Amino acid sequence: MSRVLIIGAGGVGRVVAHKCAQLPEVFTEICLASRTRAKCDQIAADLPRPVRTAGVDADRVAEVVALIKDFSPKLLINVALPYQDLSLMDACLATGVDYVDTANYEPPDTAKFEYRWQWAYQDRFRQAGLMALLGSGFDPGVTNVYCAYAQKHLFDEIETVDILDCNAGDHGYPFATNFNPEINIREVTAKGRYWEQGEWRETEPLSVSQDFDFPGVGPRKAYLMYHEEMESLVQNIRGLRRIRFWMTFSERYLTHLRVLENVGMTRIDPVEYEGHQIIPLQFLKRLLPDPASLGPRTKGKTSIGCLIAGVKDGARKQVFIHNVCDHEECFRETGAQAVSYTTGVPAMIGAKQVVTGVWKQPGVFNLEQLDPDPFMADLNRYGLPWEVQPR
Ligand code: NDP
Repeated sequence: MSRVLIIGAGGVGRVVAHKCAQLPEVFTEICLASRTRAKCDQIAADLPRPVRTAGVDADRVAEVVALIKDFSPKLLINVALPYQDLSLMDACLATGVDYVDTANYEPPDTAKFEYRWQWAYQDRFRQAGLMALLGSGFDPGVTNVYCAYAQKHLFDEIETVDILDCNAGDHGYPFATNFNPEINIREVTAKGRYWEQGEWRETEPLSVSQDFDFPGVGPRKAYLMYHEEMESLVQNIRGLRRIRFWMTFSERYLTHLRVLENVGMTRIDPVEYEGHQIIPLQFLKRLLPDPASLGPRTKGKTSIGCLIAGVKDGARKQVFIHNVCDHEECFRETGAQAVSYTTGVPAMIGAKQVVTGVWKQPGVFNLEQLDPDPFMADLNRYGLPWEVQPR
């Protein structure tokens, strides 16, 4: 019996629920829980089999513990927000349940995402015989597995990795974010950072760009940003000399973002307004379209992959391992657009490796530390086929 508890009923939660529901032989029973139970019920109504739903505040460990004791899952998939990572890991430790998430912990009051808070759980998970799988989305997630696959099969030594993320989808709104606006804007407005010759180097936000020809999409301008998977990849990819992360943005998106920043709407410190303390970025989130509502409007493709250069059998080579995903096809299958789909499918695949015992071992892991082959096979099987393109 592999009961699974999914926490979070946004765009990603919707895809995870659909994908788990499609595999009754793996996920025998499902409970979908989130802060707003009505959103869980809405998703549940579209699923191919009955699932349980619940309301839960994932910031409150005791509430999650009570829900876990009542439902008895084998594993918890956290697709709420990064702020809930630690409380959900605590709840898993208290109840003996394995843990999977898609984004690393961020303290709500500083836009700083690092693995150190979650890596600090290593001994406790190991001693409890439980597994925590960190960052099982697309990036982080699939990108980490692409690197592990390249290390295992394609290179004797990897020298450089460039992770390139292009969302060429159009939702028709002048400005909207494809996943949680607060998390997205905190990430995009942060300083850029990349790693070279053993050192982190910082760049001003969105100040470095390059043109890249994305399969399925064509040439696009991509901007250098910091992204969390680099923190674990620099530790786990042997011989690495440089790793960078790039994401495409349209001119329209960047212009809106610049204006919002300039007028102070992206601030995350509290501001006194007519007797209330408000956080401008949270207020902005309230005004922007809900990412979960973009599904029916979004057309076009995502194209995400790892450009990897290094040496094999004495010869230099470079490959782009990537996936191209179509927003409308994702919507037809799950009712969510491709950014949610490319995150939710790997969350299900990571959870599958743990509950079936293929990856299960005690401790806290990033995906590139595990055998990439079963995960890569499942990407092809469950909707995110990949290709290795020589460059
Ligand atoms: P949404 O904002 O659409 O959904 C988040 C959900 O979590 C909502 O249902 C929300 O409830 C719920 N939630 C928030 N706080 C709590 C809480 N305290 N207790 C219980 N539930 C809570 O986000 P997305 O679905 O777009 O993203 C989900 C996660 O996926 C995020 O962590 C995001 O960073 C990550 N992600 C990872 C990617 C990757 O490639 N690795 C890419 C994209 C996203 P309510 O509706 O009540 O607000």
